Amino acid sequence: MKTAIIGGGAAGFFTAINLKEMVAPMEVTIFERAHRVLQKVEISGGGRCNCTNSFRLVSDLSQVYPRGHRLLKRLFKSFGPEDAYRWFEERGVALVTQDDECVFPQSQDSHSIINLFLSEARRLGIEIKTGCAISTNIQKDSQDTDSLDALFRDYDFVVVTTGGSPKKEGLQWLGHEIVQPVPSLFTFQIEDKSLHDLMGTVVENATAFMPGTKLRASGPLLITHWGMSGPAILRLSSYAARLLAENSYKMPLSINWTNETEASINEELTAIATKHPQKQVASQSVFSLPSRLWTYLVEKSLAPGAEQSKSSQNKENYMTRRWCDLSKKDFNRLVNRLVNDEYTIAGRAPFKDEFVTCGGISLSAVNPSTLESRQRSHLYFAGEVLDIDGVTGGFNFQAAWSTAYAVAHAISQEALSNK
Ligand SMILES: Cc1cc2nc3c(=O)[nH]c(=O)nc-3n(C[C@H](O)[C@H](O)[C@H](O)COP(=O)(O)OP(=O)(O)OC[C@H]3O[C@@H](n4cnc5c(N)ncnc54)[C@H](O)[C@@H]3O)c2cc1C
Repeated sequence: MKTAIIGGGAAGFFTAINLKEMVAPMEVTIFERAHRVLQKVEISGGGRCNCTNSFRLVSDLSQVYPRGHRLLKRLFKSFGPEDAYRWFEERGVALVTQDDECVFPQSQDSHSIINLFLSEARRLGIEIKTGCAISTNIQKDSQDTDSLDALFRDYDFVVVTTGGSPKKEGLQWLGHEIVQPVPSLFTFQIEDKSLHDLMGTVVENATAFMPGTKLRASGPLLITHWGMSGPAILRLSSYAARLLAENSYKMPLSINWTNETEASINEELTAIATKHPQKQVASQSVFSLPSRLWTYLVEKSLAPGAEQSKSSQNKENYMTRRWCDLSKKDFNRLVNRLVNDEYTIAGRAPFKDEFVTCGGISLSAVNPSTLESRQRSHLYFAGEVLDIDGVTGGFNFQAAWSTAYAVAHAISQEALSNK
């Protein structure tokens, strides 16, 4: 029996290796359109490949998989993060779990994963055809010898692991229900010169949220020379991927810089004001905020518009103000600024740095246990081509491993029952 796998990425290799281990006589061929396989694995995690996550900080899968969490909950029962961890270690790739629960190869080098996949493919006799794109021509009378239909003439099973497609048209050749693809995991462009001046500032635990929605994400936040980045922003971009796309990436954004409630900030600032009434407000930051950020927030609160002002005199007026000088209104403005600092997202960051695609082959088009197409038997899907995506932290590769394993298992069962 023969299986064709379209796409030599993470999900393609994981399907191929597991399938071949489950059914030794199965002939498995990977078709890869590029001249090199596993290119995304190579650049992933800054070249270190964040290959999974311990999930110890995850109480609900929907927190880390905005799309596909129900399906993955089911698939994790057969092959979850612990299984993935064991899978790599048993095959000689030692892994480490960081304090933030992200898992990397101990070598801190994605080539450990790539070399393992390539050597396993060699050992198991998996054929790899690079520079071999399966035609995405959707003309019914297409005579392409390498189209999906043509593959089914030569192979018993076909697995599509072509990854995320930025456009719906890129998936139409598969002839299945498609959820409109939009980018996920990107940083926000914010037009605020004074904010840009804080470039490089990191706040360890902030909350970014979309006012008027339930969409919010907490974690480290990085101020950049174009706006905001860091895990909290990337996570929010994932939760709000579709909403942001619908609004052309122009939406209000609010930041709680302290991750505290308004009441506790009020309490903390009241305590400082009572204890040190003669101290200048800007002189010492609160809640361990970086001092440059604190100064910016004080200016913005006590002199709305002053942070944009060129007049140093104007700035100084506010910078010298002491806690005892603050009116009740000033004090409340400061509290509010810390808990709900408003910005406008002006677009996605100028770089094409989105990591994953939200959308893809609709999960309703596949059997949730086997990931076999409901439309065409012996056609399977795994990896990012499906409408599954996660936030950063190794969750996307885990989705690739779990979906690929499910497909390998399903094909092995089918092959063994047809023997
Ligand atoms: C810069 C970057 C860093 C990332 N870092 C991480 C990380 O550290 N941890 C994490 O969990 N996730 C990370 N991700 C996400 C992760 O890389 C993807 O979710 C994962 O690679 C998806 O695997 P896949 O096999 O489904 O798709 P891909 O890895 O995209 O592989 C699909 C393959 O199919 C091939 N292909 C497409 N169409 C055809 C066709 N018609 N014929 C033949 N071949 C075709 C493509 O060339 C490609 O090689 C990162 C992504 C990026 C872009």
